[in-house]
Amino acid sequence: MDYDTYGSNAVELAIHLANADRATDPDWAAAFLRAHDEWFTPETALTLSPAETRRAAATADLVRAVALAGSQDDVIARLNELLALARPHPYATDHDGELHLHYARPDAPVLDQLTTTVAMGLSQVVAQHGWQRLGVCSAEACDDVYVDTSRNASRRYCSNTCASRSTVAAYRARRKA
Ligand SMILES: [Zn+2]
Ligand SMILES: [Zn+2]
Repeated sequence: MDYDTYGSNAVELAIHLANADRATDPDWAAAFLRAHDEWFTPETALTLSPAETRRAAATADLVRAVALAGSQDDVIARLNELLALARPHPYATDHDGELHLHYARPDAPVLDQLTTTVAMGLSQVVAQHGWQRLGVCSAEACDDVYVDTSRNASRRYCSNTCASRSTVAAYRARRKA
């Protein structure tokens, strides 16, 4: 399928945020920002207060809720909750050599840049390609979410790792039977 590049990358940022491991590190959000620092204007401070970390978690929860929603009404309600947190401010740039648009002000605090990019990227993909493109991994013991960018919308797993783990498990189950 033909995704707008920035929008499709932004939805991947949303998916990564939803799947971030929050259990092991109280500073998970700052670690997430550092791991995805190419998304933020270079001078942006990648630090978060505890309250901001909770807001990042709320954004992650909303992305997950959109991916898990089972009806269009539910998707719309969750998306609007997420969009209410965004502070969109279209901004043209060619920082990577290509003229393209960013969703947030370049001087916005990092949490605003993150929330706005995630909310706008996710909404744009859902509006253009349908909410059925979002799902939760079918592998046993994995509940990560994904966005399906395959041509025939046939994706069932969050990653190749989960896909092959499940194939092996199914093969073993068949052999046992
Ligand atoms: Zn850019
Ligand atoms: Zn998985």
